[in-house]
Amino acid sequence: MDLKKTADWLEKSGYPKFRARQISDAVYKNAVSGFDEITALPAPLRTGLKSHFKILALEPETVLESKAGNAVKAAFLLKDGLKIESVLLNLFPAKWSVCVSTQAGCPVQCPFCATGRRGLKRNLSPAEITSQYLFWAQYLKKSRPEERITGAVFMGMGEPFLNYDSVAESIRTITDPDLIGLGDRHLSVSTAGHVPGIRRFAKDFPQVNLALSLHAVDDALRTRLVPLNEKYPLDQLSKALRDYIFSTKRKVFIEYVLLGGINDSQTAAKKLSEWIKSVENVKYFNVNLIPYNDARRAFRAPARERAQLFANLLLMFNIQATLRHSLGADIKGACGQLAGSSTRDPA
Ligand code: SAH
Ligand code: SF4
Repeated sequence: MDLKKTADWLEKSGYPKFRARQISDAVYKNAVSGFDEITALPAPLRTGLKSHFKILALEPETVLESKAGNAVKAAFLLKDGLKIESVLLNLFPAKWSVCVSTQAGCPVQCPFCATGRRGLKRNLSPAEITSQYLFWAQYLKKSRPEERITGAVFMGMGEPFLNYDSVAESIRTITDPDLIGLGDRHLSVSTAGHVPGIRRFAKDFPQVNLALSLHAVDDALRTRLVPLNEKYPLDQLSKALRDYIFSTKRKVFIEYVLLGGINDSQTAAKKLSEWIKSVENVKYFNVNLIPYNDARRAFRAPARERAQLFANLLLMFNIQATLRHSLGADIKGACGQLAGSSTRDPA
């Protein structure tokens, strides 16, 4: 909800200032789903709020739980009829992470990702991004009141750094101790390699985790897999990462989707290790290997043993690496599968 507009309306309607704080605490800290739940407010004020404001800037349409119970996907309807998706993930007992979308569609159009299938529809507003988080906080409060959201990842639909200002405002709302108040280090932003974005992010949010979707370390292959590489090739990316590490002293999380027969060979593992070593000390990197999730017909996941071998090779080269099987594949909620029905991949 728009706090500024709410405060103005409260003032105009003659309510004391402390009401604004009560409302924002209820919405951001206590995850109320409706103004009626804020029983500390006088009834006429609750009625007034209901007729003037909405807590969420998007409308939840469907919610799907994975069989294993560790991933939940929601589809939201935006004001202009577009649809986006967001996921709630259970990575540790009783601790949940929210994966938010930053754009409807994505202009980068990586050929292995369902989100990029139809290009960009539009950027999401800060309120639309933050509302995904608030929706999941409300959902957990109702369905699992003992459990908590302890992290947020900007890894849903879209390239966060192509919608930088909205993403930045949403990060501020999620981390502001007066609003949601999650610690900076509990947030992560994943980029396909937008170099100016990485540089800005290093200055603005040195404590928020940076994840880079690398997928290949030779320019020809990387440009095929991540078309943004044409504009920001590997040497520029390497310099940006070095500067990022120099100024923040933080680790970079490298994401590497394993695509069978394309970037999953032993030679590729060796080249990846060498590239990482050429950027900075290996202690600053953590590689997440993500076996391809079914999203586009032209690709396949490597066999389990092959993926494990790739991981073992990185470890042998002293690179910290984890092989991560995405949660939520049965509800099409895993990495790369989010589409929103207006951008659904018919293939
Ligand atoms: N646009 C940003 C963030 C959203 S994508 C980025 O690309 O980093 C989140 C992650 O899902 C990225 O690492 C992306 O490479 C990965 N991904 C996309 N499609 C995938 C697929 N089909 N299988 C596994 N991971 C995929
Ligand atoms: Fe966009 Fe990321 Fe999907 Fe590439 S992987 S199309 S950058 S959302």
